[in-house]
Amino acid sequence: MAISVRCTVDNCYFWARDNYCGADTILVTTTEAVRRYPSGVDAPQANMIVNDMGQTPADRSTDTACKTFRRR
Ligand code: SF4
Repeated sequence: MAISVRCTVDNCYFWARDNYCGADTILVTTTEAVRRYPSGVDAPQANMIVNDMGQTPADRSTDTACKTFRRR
């Protein structure tokens, strides 16, 4: 199932015109995972994080982040 991801982070390599994400897949996770894996990730690294972290519940949106971000 294809979905559209809207994103305003326009200095990301994957950012596309009209505030869409152009990545094939993205990894959204919690700030806990961001602390454990502070650099950006490609698809194999995203799979490794998912396998390592499993599910990571959050209490609020500010506890989440896009780990696929790559500075343009
Ligand atoms: S990879 Fe993440 S930060 Fe980059 S455009 Fe997509 S949603 Fe935004």
